[in-house]
Amino acid sequence: MNAETIQISDFTVSVERGDTKYMYLRVLPPDGNVLIKAPEQVSLDDMRRFAISKLSWLKRERAKYQTQPRLPERRYETGDCVRIWGDVCRLRIVHSWKCNDVRRDGDWIELQTRPNSTPKQREKILNEWYRKQLRKALDALIPLCEKIVGVSADFYGIKKMATRWGSCQIEKRRIWLNLHLAQNSRASLQYVLIHELVHLLEPTHNERFSMLMTRYCPNWRSLKDHLNGQALEPFERKHL
Ligand SMILES: [Zn+2]
Repeated sequence: MNAETIQISDFTVSVERGDTKYMYLRVLPPDGNVLIKAPEQVSLDDMRRFAISKLSWLKRERAKYQTQPRLPERRYETGDCVRIWGDVCRLRIVHSWKCNDVRRDGDWIELQTRPNSTPKQREKILNEWYRKQLRKALDALIPLCEKIVGVSADFYGIKKMATRWGSCQIEKRRIWLNLHLAQNSRASLQYVLIHELVHLLEPTHNERFSMLMTRYCPNWRSLKDHLNGQALEPFERKHL
């Protein structure tokens, strides 16, 4: 069966029904494809009208994806650049039928894997290592940052996020940190932690928020600019 689609201007919008009370549109990474989600009973005509009413928004959202340069498919091969804690290292693939392993050796990141591993599997091994690195750093940083800000969260999680370095669910007192933070400096990680903890005192990015940030992390503006200049990707686009 063909999936339902509607055509709006030059957008092909995929339709997904059910499991929602309201109709909404999403522009999906990485290509800016558009999805409309709607309750079962909504007609395609109603969806079309809804999408047309959001056309200028759709165009703006899609433009964001189109201006982002696409990264080539990453291979995770010897010689590739990998970042850890702000240092640019080179990857060395070591083949072994024994366990998967990653270790840092000066400017090299040695990734041990089976000879027939795929780039996806090597990426997964590396990401597990990043997760361990980040968790270890957080064990030391969380008590420090909680002391600085004077508040604490109930939960700290790590996940890959495509568009943000951290997030805070204020009511649940949950803080999520982007896995890719392990590629940037420890000072950047501290800045993101403090930023999310400050949200427990001030939910919005208003003047009070900036004032609190300056109090708890005086150089936050330069750390923020630096982080925002970093791609949310583990690899540099070019080799060393
Ligand atoms: Zn924020």
